Amino acid sequence: MIPFDLFNLDDKLTDSQRALRLQVRQFVEEVVKPRINPYWEAAEFPWEIAHEMKQLPIWGTMMQGYGCAELDALSAGLVRYELGRGDGSIGTFYGVHSGLAMGSIGKLGSDEQKARWLPAMARVEKIGAFGLSEPERGSDAVHVLTTAVRDGDHYLLNGSKRWIGNASIADLLIIWARDETGQFGGFVIENPNQTAGVTITNLQGKISKRAVLNAEILLENVRVPAENRLAHARSFHDVSAVLAYTRYTICWEAAGIAAACLEMALDYAKTREQFGKPIASFQLVQHKLVEMAAEVSQMQLLCWRMAELMAEGKLTSAQTSLGKYNNARKARQVALLAREVLGGNGILIENHVARLLLDAEVIYTYEGTNEINLLIVGRELTGIGAFG
Ligand SMILES: Cc1cc2nc3c(=O)[nH]c(=O)nc-3n(C[C@H](O)[C@H](O)[C@H](O)COP(=O)(O)OP(=O)(O)OC[C@H]3O[C@@H](n4cnc5c(N)ncnc54)[C@H](O)[C@@H]3O)c2cc1C
Repeated sequence: MIPFDLFNLDDKLTDSQRALRLQVRQFVEEVVKPRINPYWEAAEFPWEIAHEMKQLPIWGTMMQGYGCAELDALSAGLVRYELGRGDGSIGTFYGVHSGLAMGSIGKLGSDEQKARWLPAMARVEKIGAFGLSEPERGSDAVHVLTTAVRDGDHYLLNGSKRWIGNASIADLLIIWARDETGQFGGFVIENPNQTAGVTITNLQGKISKRAVLNAEILLENVRVPAENRLAHARSFHDVSAVLAYTRYTICWEAAGIAAACLEMALDYAKTREQFGKPIASFQLVQHKLVEMAAEVSQMQLLCWRMAELMAEGKLTSAQTSLGKYNNARKARQVALLAREVLGGNGILIENHVARLLLDAEVIYTYEGTNEINLLIVGRELTGIGAFG
């Protein structure tokens, strides 16, 4: 499969960026793609792939020190793009652990908390999860119902969480809750699967990202030591800083999934023959391929510009939301067109496009639904919030 790069963006990579991208690409081609489908079908987490993935220099992504990868903004995007070209579940395992969980500790933890948790997480000896969404509070996460009430040198957590990636395999679970003064807080539960009062149940029957586990969590008088409260998280604005970064990487993931779908459709169209000719020779098929190429190129260009802005410290929340809004929508459309080009073979999981198509579905919804990202951009353009 020839990586799609019509505008020669690769020419702009530095040697180290090119080497990292190649390393992740090779891992995806040699380890992820040949092995992922049975896990996806069985809705099982691919531990063997996760173990081999530990050797990639990508953990902790852009964070400095504590054994983290210290990637630049473009490299962080390229990693997520290449993982997306292979498989959405693996990308989400990485994004939840390295972005949401490590990112929360890295951005909002004290120096002691970072030193305590990040090194083992950077070695992937301890896996992290990030619990914000609730059964009754999805898009409206600012109004979480989970409470954390101070009780001596502990907090008592009560409430429930839903959709939490990696929760059932996590060593560190960050729960977002309001304390008795109404302040927002991130509370790190160590060994959540062995903690009294924590019940973690994997959600069944997902049609998207089936090889990563998402769970419902019930918290009943869970005792969390006060020193496990993230030191610099006091408002929803603080957690939004973590989400702004991960949302940036999701723009790249969407572009990677779309690029892989286009690349597979191109390969297929050149070799599949009907009416005595490759289907790529039919105008109607070329129309689909060009539509896909146009969308993927725009997604790539947007990602690259966002990377420049992030590197300069200038990427705004509205820009990130517009990137997410655009790329999540386009990934869905491109994957659907690729599925059409593959005909009946497009619905067979062995050809990968079907899995990527379904994985693209949830990108549309997580890290802010398409509507919420639209509303963030709408507020920026008009100065008027239209959320409620
Ligand atoms: C596979 C998967 C993995 C996830 N991983 C995690 C995780 O690791 N940690 C975590 O905390 N969360 C996670 N989530 C949760 C995710 O962030 C939420 O699903 C998302 O925020 C949307 O919430 P909801 O599903 O409850 O939908 P709802 O918020 O109920 O939205 C339903 C519909 O209403 C629309 N809507 C809502 N409010 C408005 C409004 N004001 N105006 C217009 N339309 C509106 C939405 O756009 C959507 O179309 C995950 C979700 C999925 C599906």
